[in-house]
Amino acid sequence: MAFEIPKLPYEYDALEPVISKRTLEFHHNKHHAAYVNNLNNLIQDTEFEDSDIVDIMMKATGGIFNNAAQVWNHTFYFDQFGKDKPKQANGQLLDAIIASFGSFDEFKEKFTNSAKTLFGSGWTWLVKKPNGSLDIVQTSNASNPLTEGLIPILTCDVWEHAYYLDYQNRRPDYISSFWNIIDWDIVSGRY
Ligand code: MN
Repeated sequence: MAFEIPKLPYEYDALEPVISKRTLEFHHNKHHAAYVNNLNNLIQDTEFEDSDIVDIMMKATGGIFNNAAQVWNHTFYFDQFGKDKPKQANGQLLDAIIASFGSFDEFKEKFTNSAKTLFGSGWTWLVKKPNGSLDIVQTSNASNPLTEGLIPILTCDVWEHAYYLDYQNRRPDYISSFWNIIDWDIVSGRY
């Protein structure tokens, strides 16, 4: 059964001015769609033909892993945004953030720094460890914390295709604006 690209849970212009309609159209219609198409082509006549996406990520290597993980990573990234959403974590996630980082602002600072300093293409993640505490990790290229036994809660895509049309080389500006479009109800529900 072929994978399909999920529809965005908002309009293409909903995240402006933080992420422009043009960036989102390229990112979703071209980049995310290409990972879905590549994955469908690569798994034909392999042991992964009928696997779900997480199964593929846990077991595959090479091109199949890269495309499966990028499909999962982008769906997870796009799903965490919205227009006019609560600006801070709530419930158990907020408690865990305070326990792990001291305060919500200290968490934001640490996550921002992780995203800024990631060398090359990749992702910064807020993750839940098996004991319930939180950590911030960087992954290169397509890699995903699930394969390390960590549960993703929030992510920032710092591949240049995520921000270059809007921010060019100013990755720090993309990251500081990124906080304004997060839907903390969705993210808090992931904890
Ligand atoms: Mn991307």
